[in-house]
Amino acid sequence: MRNFVNLNVNPCNMCMPMGAAGVFKGIEHCMVLMHGSQGCSTYIRRHMATHYNEPIDIASSSLNEKGTVYGGSANLKKALKNVIKLYRPRVVGITTTCLAETIGEDLGGIINEFFAEEKIKGIDCLAVSSPGYGGSQYKGHYYTARKTVEHFVKNGGKSPKVNVIVGSMSPGDIRHLKEILSLFDIAYTLFPDISETLDGGCQEYYNRMPEGGTPISALKEMGKAAATLEIGAMVADEDSPGLYLKEAYGIPLYRLPLPIGLQNTDALMEALAGISGRGVPMKIRKERARYLDAMIDAHKYNAEGRVGIFGDPELIYAATSICLENCFTPCVVASGPANGKILPALDSLGSSFNRDFIKLADTDFETISKHVQDTGVNLLIGPSDGAFMTEKFGIPLVRTGFPVHDRMGAQRKVVIGYTGSMQLLDELTNILLDQKHQTFRANLHKAYWR
Ligand code: SF4
Repeated sequence: MRNFVNLNVNPCNMCMPMGAAGVFKGIEHCMVLMHGSQGCSTYIRRHMATHYNEPIDIASSSLNEKGTVYGGSANLKKALKNVIKLYRPRVVGITTTCLAETIGEDLGGIINEFFAEEKIKGIDCLAVSSPGYGGSQYKGHYYTARKTVEHFVKNGGKSPKVNVIVGSMSPGDIRHLKEILSLFDIAYTLFPDISETLDGGCQEYYNRMPEGGTPISALKEMGKAAATLEIGAMVADEDSPGLYLKEAYGIPLYRLPLPIGLQNTDALMEALAGISGRGVPMKIRKERARYLDAMIDAHKYNAEGRVGIFGDPELIYAATSICLENCFTPCVVASGPANGKILPALDSLGSSFNRDFIKLADTDFETISKHVQDTGVNLLIGPSDGAFMTEKFGIPLVRTGFPVHDRMGAQRKVVIGYTGSMQLLDELTNILLDQKHQTFRANLHKAYWR
């Protein structure tokens, strides 16, 4: 354990506005405007651009010394005016930064004043308080999703549609989830939907506002849905959009872990079978059987895997699950973000497989790398911010989650469902096989010759 108080050395998470921006990017015709200094939006654009390999437009109110002392109202109004003129958005999603929150900006007041002064109609403006010191990207994602739902949903009622609320998943994973929903023949509203906005195809002309995203009309109808399926088992109750819809509109809620691995994917399929009343489609049954076959094929190699897992709570829970199911030994499992649910959840997951391992929450890479060395980890799973451990200690990293900025294809990588889990399992096992083939001569030499 660390001896320091209030000190993070190389944090294993990103700040709250990053999560907010990711959600706004999943709303149709939504432009993101960050109220704060330029550096914050540059940091977020940079991470998103290298992960998704797309142009990432995020505007900034560009708060400077003057705005910090006298208030940022003029900057924000000017930014709003420019954004509306240039992008013609249907929604402007405003996310605040440390600076704007610290000087105590009255966001609602400034926005109301702006719309009254400019007499602008037909544009929704949604402001979310998201100071960097207020939480991680993980919190920012679900908190913003909840505030968006609260903002748009005004009425209950009856509709056969199902709300599907997702966390920070790749566009490829979201497309795969949509295919699964279609196989169950379920009508749904998926939110936030970055499957097109952050992974569009090549076009002849640059479109400032990418196509895709959850339509506003669908967001408004979420209070009428037959059920809500929320991929986010570790989300705090106060940040859960699904719990809000349940409490405000009586919509049954299924809260599920990220569907990576057998148990977690089974949980998703069981929920969908129950909601649709149709049973699990044959295509999915076959995918499950193929995944089981892959698990059997790979298990004889995996016991050599001593794994260090890090990232956001959903990712680490699901990654630990797939490792335990496939005979890998988790050694260190670390959540960068603070989270009240992850440690008990990992305890109970470990107990169900009769395994114990080091569990950390609200931690940093300094702490993680110490435990990684002490426990003899030979395989890492997490975002590419942990890649320095590969450089320093020679431990290979399977890049999963957000951000992955030193490899191509993170935006289309599929790790969910039986098919995605199979691909992830193959990747993990192949790394162990590589290690074995590359080192067995040297190990034999060391053990028996010298
Ligand atoms: S932590 Fe605060 S100052 Fe730093 S990027 Fe995030 S919002 Fe900006």
